[in-house]
Amino acid sequence: MTPPPLEPGCTLGVLGGGQLGRMVALAAARLGVHVHVFAPEGDCPAAEVARRHTRASWDDPHALDTFAATVDVVTCEFENVPAGALERLAARVPVRPGARAFAIAQDRIAEKSFLRERGVPTAPWRPVRSADELGAARAALGEGILKTARLGYDGKGQLRLHPSLSDAEAFAALGGVPCVLEGVVPFVRELSALVARRADGASLVFPVSENAHREGVLVRARHPARAHAAALAAAAGIARALAIGLDLVGLLCVELFLGPDGRVYVNELAPRPHNSFHWSIDGGAACQFEALVRAVLGWPLPAVVPVGDLTLENLLGDEVHAWSEALATPGARLHLYGKGAPRPGRKMGHLTHLLPAGSLPRGGLGEDLLSVPGEPGLHLRRGDAGWYAAGPDDAPLPADAVPARVRALIPGLDAGDPRAAGWEPDPRR
Ligand code: ATP
Ligand code: MG
Repeated sequence: MTPPPLEPGCTLGVLGGGQLGRMVALAAARLGVHVHVFAPEGDCPAAEVARRHTRASWDDPHALDTFAATVDVVTCEFENVPAGALERLAARVPVRPGARAFAIAQDRIAEKSFLRERGVPTAPWRPVRSADELGAARAALGEGILKTARLGYDGKGQLRLHPSLSDAEAFAALGGVPCVLEGVVPFVRELSALVARRADGASLVFPVSENAHREGVLVRARHPARAHAAALAAAAGIARALAIGLDLVGLLCVELFLGPDGRVYVNELAPRPHNSFHWSIDGGAACQFEALVRAVLGWPLPAVVPVGDLTLENLLGDEVHAWSEALATPGARLHLYGKGAPRPGRKMGHLTHLLPAGSLPRGGLGEDLLSVPGEPGLHLRRGDAGWYAAGPDDAPLPADAVPARVRALIPGLDAGDPRAAGWEPDPRR
């Protein structure tokens, strides 16, 4: 049976003390909800804006029990909370998302197996638990990306393989722990889809975000995503179906690759707020953090209709020194996380820009954009993986929307310059 909604004045427990927890606490405070953070670190971004902070380790039973006794419901801002702590809390207070979502999102082998069971496309992959298994996986998939099964984030715990690296060296380089080997997906864009879901099954899907990473770390995101309507619908549908499959209460973010074939492939799952949706704070409607609070408390979910186009830019490391410049930029909204020293790659804050709907530059249209004679409805673009056909919205077209004569040409275009085929640079560039 679905528990009754909690009331304003209740206390939300948040596991983890980082910037995501900080933004959850800020959204909760606005709705008259108290936040109690549990985090082993002192002086953390979330605790600074929360009513209480329990600073204790995840294996401190007394601290966990005391924390559980002071909160009405628990959520998380990171998925790697140790299972023992989760179990102990869940015996005393509702923990949302539940144990299944944590177990799957904490382990890439479990996660990818779950996706396979559900028929959701991913990169080709193999579990790797030894150097020998890595050899077999390389033979099957070629040189891919080796990722630790557990505890990776921001591209940490990953190794791009190359022939000069032996199986033993590569396996040892990541600590000899269980891993997965993933084939490299020749994506043309990265997308993410976010769903908020309540215990009674009511859910809402945010508009899909388009994301850019540098060395495995998110650097930019934007709404709207440049993707074909069918790909956007597939991304949203996958997110909703997976949230149901995990019986998740709270937020589920699904990171995806958009392939040159117009299809989406799931990269990974995060059962919590996600960096790629920070633009939702300044989008003019309820943001992901408010949606999380409402979902876990059993409150009505917001309608998420951004009032314009939005861009998000992470401030990593020393980039944070541009804060005053950012404040002087019309239309820019600055968010700082109150962290101490800027270390390279450390997420110090972010900047969003809210622009009138339809005004976002299409971006990235350079010399790699070609029109096709006699085909006004499409053009060719070049991504990392070679040339592909894109529609007027600059998103890859599904294969069946590309005329056969164009499709026949595209594979051959990888090798050479399609201008040799007599195609002209698109006048819109
Ligand atoms: P985070 O938790 O911060 O999202 P992570 O450490 O879990 O990061 P991944 O999401 O697995 O890392 O990978 C980070 C980025 O590396 C991806 O967003 C993508 O840009 C690139 N990448 C990862 N796996 C693949 C793949 N199989 N093919 C192509 N690119 C990949
Ligand atoms: Mg990721």
